Amino acid sequence: AAKKLGRSRFCYFTPAMQEAAEIRLRLTNDLRHALADRQIWVAYQPIVDLATGEIRKAEALIRWEHPTRGLVNPAEFIPIAEDTGLITEIGSWVFHQVAEQVAVWRNRHSAQFQISINKSPAQFHNNSDKLGDWFEHLQRLGLPGGCIAVEITEGLLLDASNTVTEKLLAFKNAGMQTSLDDFGTGYSSLSYLNKYQIDFLKIDQAFVSGLTAHSTDMALCEAIIMLAHVLGMKVIAEGVETEVQRDLLMQAGCDYGQGYLFSKPVPAADFEKLFSSTRADGGPRFQQR
Ligand code: C2E
Ligand code: MG
Ligand code: MG
Ligand code: MG
Repeated sequence: AAKKLGRSRFCYFTPAMQEAAEIRLRLTNDLRHALADRQIWVAYQPIVDLATGEIRKAEALIRWEHPTRGLVNPAEFIPIAEDTGLITEIGSWVFHQVAEQVAVWRNRHSAQFQISINKSPAQFHNNSDKLGDWFEHLQRLGLPGGCIAVEITEGLLLDASNTVTEKLLAFKNAGMQTSLDDFGTGYSSLSYLNKYQIDFLKIDQAFVSGLTAHSTDMALCEAIIMLAHVLGMKVIAEGVETEVQRDLLMQAGCDYGQGYLFSKPVPAADFEKLFSSTRADGGPRFQQR
């Protein structure tokens, strides 16, 4: 028995765990050069006005094209960026990149165009962002704050410390809008939505994927949308993949949709082509997959 116990003790660090640790260490080292080596880029996914089918907004989603491993998921490298503090530099780079892009698209396509950026809780808790520099960058480009929306998650509102509250306020004071991402997966209360004057609720894909006419998910979506509207928020449905889902969301009164039905996240140059395929009669653009 003692022998067995002894052996199991040595098994705490399995070969699989060691490999995972090594991969992570390598990625950590590689990430330090990724920005300078231009391996990191921003993909844009359209956010569509469900009533007209027009592209009104985009979400900026970061991509890392690793020289040997290929595309690395943000879910894998954002935590590493947070642990190493590299997230400050990356977050700032994304913001500047997005500001320049939104200036171009406002000029060429629509004066109201808005791009949302994602900010993880860790980015709110540390104090190294130079928000003043970001806002000055917008001013230099002649852009109002409203050209940017900041996406946050429910957890952030729950344990809102002073740093978090001040940062959220700083964004709002600069005229930026805020979106509550992945809504329904966490625990936020109505009072938080009101207190922080959230502008957009993004219904998580988990509720959208199960949508059928008389399902619980349909009832939930209807309730969420009604509630958001009462509180003065607009609603964006995430992960819209089928026309059925889109139609049910419209029926439930949802304002915007985002998902593979419209487009996957794409490089800026490809996003341009989505704009130019807008139908001249202003009818729904995305009738067919
Ligand atoms: P998120 O903000 O909730 O972004 C939505 C995710 O759903 C994206 O995954 C997007 O590609 C995916 N998606 C969109 N439409 C569909 C659909 O119809 N079907 C399916 N199956 N998926 C869809 P992605 O790009 O892998 O990003 C994952 C997460 O990484 C994001 O979740 C966000 O939390 C985080 N992230 C991405 N970019 C940044 C960034 O610049 N900064 C920070 N802090 N986090 C980021
Ligand atoms: Mg998001
Ligand atoms: Mg989301
Ligand atoms: Mg998500």
